[in-house]
Amino acid sequence: MSSRILVTGGAGFIGSAVVRHLIQNTTHVVGNIDQLTYAGNLESLTSISSSPSYHFYHVDICDAVALSRVFNEFRPTAVMHLAAESHVDRSIDGPAEFIQTNIVGTYTLLEATRNYWSNLDADKKSAFRFHHISTDEVYGDLEGTDDLFTEDTPYAPSSPYSASKASSDHLVRAWQRTYGLPTLVTNCSNNYGPYHFPEKLIPHVILNALAGKPLPVYGDGSQIRDWLYVEDHARALVQVVTEGVVGKTYNIGGHNEKRNIEVVQTICDLLEELAPNKPAGVSIYRDLITFVKDRPGHDARYAIDASKIQRELGWVPQETFETGIRKTVAWYLENRDWWERVLSGDYRLTRLGE
Ligand code: NAD
Repeated sequence: MSSRILVTGGAGFIGSAVVRHLIQNTTHVVGNIDQLTYAGNLESLTSISSSPSYHFYHVDICDAVALSRVFNEFRPTAVMHLAAESHVDRSIDGPAEFIQTNIVGTYTLLEATRNYWSNLDADKKSAFRFHHISTDEVYGDLEGTDDLFTEDTPYAPSSPYSASKASSDHLVRAWQRTYGLPTLVTNCSNNYGPYHFPEKLIPHVILNALAGKPLPVYGDGSQIRDWLYVEDHARALVQVVTEGVVGKTYNIGGHNEKRNIEVVQTICDLLEELAPNKPAGVSIYRDLITFVKDRPGHDARYAIDASKIQRELGWVPQETFETGIRKTVAWYLENRDWWERVLSGDYRLTRLGE
């Protein structure tokens, strides 16, 4: 059955993958609420933006009045909440926006949803879903163990980013327990893939290498992350919002634990093959790797046990790290226009034409 899904943060990296997936592969109608911060890019949605099933709302999730207007106009059957400040380094330099968007914004969205949901008739009320999209970083650090994060792992966030996400997860669960709002929570590992903002590790390394610039690696590069191809995440999220059991949490991961240095070396080796015409002065891309002072509070290892979503909903990732990273490097080589406009800042002009 077709739903009307209100996605927040749909102009971001993962949100845009969710919106593209919904419009291209399902019959659901999509409303996209996005404030278009530096991380929001309408040019990631050009392939679907003229679809009659797609509606865009340039709205801040902290604005209760504007949210209420969108709910009454779009009349969603489900909300997928991805809008957030998402970059750990930025949260260390300036935590205030993370508290505002990730905590106050989630609270404001929950209240707008509750106001709308409580006035629905009984059938629509029980069919309604609020899906909160979160991160494995809420679980903290697995340094020195072979453990995996399960849905029962206690929360122990390390950074202002992960603490603000942990806080928002608690709010969502409380709104389910206290008010009966039909919520679902997912906690996912590091994503990578097309349309990733160049401040994040993988696109940053690809673009710096193509420009012959240093490839900065924190500390000794031994930090381990579990990498998931963004389109696999988008499929998992749509499956959870349509088939997941209310009140449950699902961990989502790629079974792809890699040390940061391995990730950077893999990108260098793929570029040797796919972009052999190197910038002046570069003989091999690996020579550009530069170790820099580690990030404060840097977690050593994250790894997800994604067996519950596999067992209960039958979701498994389609990409291995090797296939996904190859596709990603190829995408950046084939989509210069997209990232050149991000680097120059011109992508922000698209908001004027919305
Ligand atoms: P992103 O930074 O690429 O995108 C965030 C989007 O939210 C942007 O389009 C931005 O304009 C929008 N936004 C920010 N503040 C807003 C506000 N106040 N009102 C409305 N819109 C606002 O983030 P992402 O990497 O796509 O992550 C999406 C979600 O998934 C986040 O909640 C993040 O915590 C979570 N997550 C991310 C990863 C990852 O590896 N990127 C992994 C697990 C979970």
